[in-house]
Amino acid sequence: MTATILDGKKLASEIRKELSSKISSLSEGFTPILAVILVGENEASKIYVRNKKKAADEIGMGCEIIELASSIGENALLETIYELNDNPHINGIIVQLPLPPHINPLHILSAISPLKDVDGFNPYNAGLLACKEDNAIISATPKGILRLLKQSGVELSGKHAVVIGRSNIVGRPTSTLLLNQDCTVSITHSHTQNLPEIVKQADIIVAACGCPNLVKKDWVKEGAIVIDVGINKVDNKLCGDVDFTEVSSVASFITPVPGGVGPMTVAMLLENTFEAAIKQQSHHQHQHCKCKHCQS
Ligand code: NAD
Repeated sequence: MTATILDGKKLASEIRKELSSKISSLSEGFTPILAVILVGENEASKIYVRNKKKAADEIGMGCEIIELASSIGENALLETIYELNDNPHINGIIVQLPLPPHINPLHILSAISPLKDVDGFNPYNAGLLACKEDNAIISATPKGILRLLKQSGVELSGKHAVVIGRSNIVGRPTSTLLLNQDCTVSITHSHTQNLPEIVKQADIIVAACGCPNLVKKDWVKEGAIVIDVGINKVDNKLCGDVDFTEVSSVASFITPVPGGVGPMTVAMLLENTFEAAIKQQSHHQHQHCKCKHCQS
């Protein structure tokens, strides 16, 4: 068997095109705006932020980058977030992670207004997702993973999904999202014993552990769907957490790295920002709205 490629680059480009036409048909003077807070000088973070801005620019979405020194204190960073929460022109707020070690990311992410939390990292949105509430803002990477799985056309209900990794930004929310799709979910992590045997039982594998080429052919059941979230550099070349060459001979569908989950993450961030903007607009238009912008 040779796996069909789940082409995230192509799907993401289609989604961005759709968003672009939706934005251009919005009423005059209304442009969704994403605010990105970048703290410190992390080179990888700078590249990620630049890519997000470029993608926003291309679809006619505003993107304001707020660069802050790594020495900034937690309170000053919180103040910046409160200002953005109160700014009616800003529709989405994200804080590029990781933050410097003296700042507690949970304090910061919890301060973002849940309506503007377009990364879905505020525990309120994570909680809504856990409660299977439709109005949760779902983190971009898990949302992108689900879109790619849907792209395969395979019914997800009842499938056994094995997620490798339990981080708050990928493994955990992806597991919840798949559970909400009626998958039977096994969450595995660095303390899991007999990982290959567990992965071998999976109909769907989501590898999100940051271990280059960890998942081998003999870990994968014939016909499984394999989503590779990992972004690793080996000998200056990008690779995922799945040994792509080996595994694509047994999987039914597989995502490449690069060109799989990565571009979908950016597209989903833009989609979340667009949807948040529309929700906020209808909130402010609501005649009973009591927020301070509508009352002033
Ligand atoms: P993380 O370091 O926060 O978490 C890694 C998780 O993997 C942990 O839960 C850990 O227990 C588990 N793990 C580590 N080694 C393991 C092993 N040998 N066996 C089983 N589990 C193991 O990382 P993260 O932020 O969740 O990111 C994971 C990977 O996904 C990284 O390569 C990251 O660069 C990539 N990533 C990609 C995107 C994207 O858009 N494509 C987005 C976010 C993260």
